[in-house]
Amino acid sequence: MKLVNGSTVAIAGGGPAGTLTAIFLLDLAAKMRISLAVDIYEPKIFSATGPKGCNMCGGVISESLMQLLATEGILLPPSVVIDTINAYILHTDEESARIEAPRQEMRIATIFRGAGPQGSEKQQPLPWKSFDLFLLELALQKGARHLPHAVIGLERREGRPSVITASAPPLSYDLLVGAVGINQSKNLQLFESFGFGYIRPQTTRAYVGELYLGAETVQSHLGHAMHVFLLNIPHLKFAAITPKGHYATLILLGDQIDAPLVEQFFQAPEVRKCLPEGWEIPVQPCHCQPQIQIGPPVHPFGDRVVMVGDACVSRLYKDGIGAAHRLAKRCALTALVHGVSEQDFNRHYWPSCRGLLWDNRLGHLLFAMDHLFRSSPLLRRGLMGVLKQEHSLSGHACPLSSAFWNTFTGSASYTRIARDMLRPTVLWRLLRTTASSLFQPQRGAGA
Ligand SMILES: Cc1cc2nc3c(=O)[nH]c(=O)nc-3n(C[C@H](O)[C@H](O)[C@H](O)COP(=O)(O)OP(=O)(O)OC[C@H]3O[C@@H](n4cnc5c(N)ncnc54)[C@H](O)[C@@H]3O)c2cc1C
Repeated sequence: MKLVNGSTVAIAGGGPAGTLTAIFLLDLAAKMRISLAVDIYEPKIFSATGPKGCNMCGGVISESLMQLLATEGILLPPSVVIDTINAYILHTDEESARIEAPRQEMRIATIFRGAGPQGSEKQQPLPWKSFDLFLLELALQKGARHLPHAVIGLERREGRPSVITASAPPLSYDLLVGAVGINQSKNLQLFESFGFGYIRPQTTRAYVGELYLGAETVQSHLGHAMHVFLLNIPHLKFAAITPKGHYATLILLGDQIDAPLVEQFFQAPEVRKCLPEGWEIPVQPCHCQPQIQIGPPVHPFGDRVVMVGDACVSRLYKDGIGAAHRLAKRCALTALVHGVSEQDFNRHYWPSCRGLLWDNRLGHLLFAMDHLFRSSPLLRRGLMGVLKQEHSLSGHACPLSSAFWNTFTGSASYTRIARDMLRPTVLWRLLRTTASSLFQPQRGAGA
């Protein structure tokens, strides 16, 4: 089962996983002198503001991903990059520590997945462009065709997958790529009942809110730094506020993110001090509760069908777009160089998924450790002590700061983060600062 001259590919879903798969397929096919027809089925209007155009995400792009994309000729234009981040500020109940980018060039970009938060359409013309639209347009430039319809049914005709939409007769393809994300159960159900043994990955609900503060307030209160909060709130695993032009994006990750938890977050003094005095949560900020992957899928490929992106395997709690990029590239390489049978995907695509899954296991372990720091004031003080020590040692190796930077940005694997965190020097410093903080009075907040 090979893709040859004139073969056809259907991609269900035009988020990053779908469009990047199309881009890599078409680039590689051109190099191999194979003419390929690629159809991207995507009903969302990425040029629209609010939920109509948005694929619900924090919109942080790691530096390593931007560099990778640049080497592949995918250069994010200034209209897509809303802001750049060059530091993280870690806030605890007692103090704050600043973590600079390990190197000057290691900046992080923030983007909007659609054309901007709900309500931003009042600013005309919009000063920014959707990240997903940029990728979709690039795929179209490379020769893909965009069908603005949702896939509502799948069937097999003479062994080939056939795609059903409400607007056109069914079309059969040599390969079907499932890039439908994890946010709508009925879309995943289509693939689960397609008969290749696929079961969707395990997920939980997260929270994203776009808070309108105005560019000046964003600059004066947040600067070019992501603000990460180590709060002892049950079920909360990660909380951050990221500057994005006129907006501040709030991301909450955990097991059961609900309205009372969000309220509790906003009431925390360490959060209030990052926001303007007297600022009240808007009655209806642009917010959503998307699904986030926390466990693996079952059998995400079969003959002439393969899942990519969130519907397959992602990185735990970070760098989902980076993971989508990695799987899209591997999927294209497998399909064009090796073939599109179940065996081909098992041999040449699945190892990349397995690599991410192994790394995620370490991620789960690190988040379990993180829980210890959240719940113990003593450990929190020890941790902040080490970060401050490293800050004063500028020019020397700062393994713990580097591990934190990579955790928040997604710039490195959990394996590398664990290696940095568990270095004997880090453990020794942690032990020393924790022990010495036992004899210190509680400190007031301060950066
Ligand atoms: C709270 C939160 C914060 C996050 N923050 C970040 C971050 O800062 N950085 C980062 O890298 N990642 C982040 N992620 C992860 C990131 O959003 C995902 O990993 C990424 O969007 C996956 O891309 P995808 O293309 O697989 O899926 P999606 O982006 O969900 O795209 C799926 C697409 O498929 C389309 N579709 C669905 N069903 C059909 C159908 N039946 N027919 C046709 N089209 C269909 C949808 O309209 C959609 O456009 C975050 C996730 C969450 C939940």
